[in-house]
Amino acid sequence: MNFRNFPMVPRVVFGRGSFDQLDEIISPKRKSDNAPFIFLVDDIFKDTGLEKKIPLKHNDKIIFVNSDTEPKTFQVDTLRDTIVQEFGALPSGVLGIGGGTLMDLAKAVAIMLANPGSSADYQGWDLVNKPALYHVGIPTISGTGAEVSRTTVLTGPEKKLGINSDYTPFDQVVLDPDLCTGVPRNQWFYTGMDCYIHCIESLTGTYLNAFSQSYGEKALELCHEVFLNGALSEEESRDKLMMASWHGGMSIAYSQVGVAHAMSYGLSYLLGTRHGVGNCIVFDQLEEFYPEGVKNFKQMTDRYEVEIPRGLCGALSDAEFDTMINVSMGMVPLWENAMGKDWKKVITPGKLRSMYEKM
Ligand code: NAD
Ligand code: ZN
Repeated sequence: MNFRNFPMVPRVVFGRGSFDQLDEIISPKRKSDNAPFIFLVDDIFKDTGLEKKIPLKHNDKIIFVNSDTEPKTFQVDTLRDTIVQEFGALPSGVLGIGGGTLMDLAKAVAIMLANPGSSADYQGWDLVNKPALYHVGIPTISGTGAEVSRTTVLTGPEKKLGINSDYTPFDQVVLDPDLCTGVPRNQWFYTGMDCYIHCIESLTGTYLNAFSQSYGEKALELCHEVFLNGALSEEESRDKLMMASWHGGMSIAYSQVGVAHAMSYGLSYLLGTRHGVGNCIVFDQLEEFYPEGVKNFKQMTDRYEVEIPRGLCGALSDAEFDTMINVSMGMVPLWENAMGKDWKKVITPGKLRSMYEKM
């Protein structure tokens, strides 16, 4: 018997406008006047109302980060080094304000401020030895579940792989749906679909259990309300998608994702395709594996008139296809969850190639 004993986010505040309480939430965690809080903030918020509401005190610092590319290990190491050089004392904590990209960066920087070496050394499972600095996640777009997860996904010199550890989850999460106001329609859909796809992959997987199912079913119900058949106000929609993301993330904690994620990792590795849109590009072609889920997905894209990009793989070379196929086939637990121990009977390099060719 080997049941995994998971940490969870110990503190969470939820509500429209709850961001305004941030000062009160983090102040007790300040170690001293010269131990700053570091705010890693998506640069989309530069010179906005949100920036002005960040409760800076003493030598606290905002670092704006562009999220056009997903987090890299060298980026994490550089941020850590910059912070160490600038401040005599270790920071009191690290806060990530943005989507999955900024939240993952905050988790990784908090770990690397407490552990030696490069973040690339910790990509894998349970390689982190010392607790991270206090870290806070504040999502501004909903869907990835990065706010609850036990991983931070990084692209390193050798692999794209998470730092999965008991020290990765946030110490505090602030769920303020108002922060998600103004997300562009396509991005809202792509990141929201990450949550929807987490639900479908978890609920139809062979790893399913009552723990995952209970969260997955709730998340799916919320996704359906938001994207498929609900008549929600924008405020209600933001509230519900934020909670869907939370539950979807909890659902995969105790199971796994599946075919769409396994294949979109290949796209991301070779072409830099980002997580949300990459999952949509793949999922669009997965009727064979997730008939009901894909049928509803197509209705949702129609309802919101969202274009799913096509033709990414048209001009790829054999070697490039092979790279994608190898990365994808390396995601063993995902395939096993999707179709059981004998997955290699169905998923061959030739099969994956023919699927990628459609994308
Ligand atoms: P993102 O953080 O990459 O942001 C997507 C875009 O939305 C960016 O252009 C950003 O500037 C913009 N944006 C964010 N908030 C906005 C707002 N309020 N208004 C306007 N624009 C806004 O997107 P994401 O889909 O949330 O995250 C993807 C990342 O999350 C990937 O790096 C992926 O690997 C990671 N991820 C992590 C986990 C995990 O468990 N750790 C799970 C899934 C995905
Ligand atoms: Zn995902």
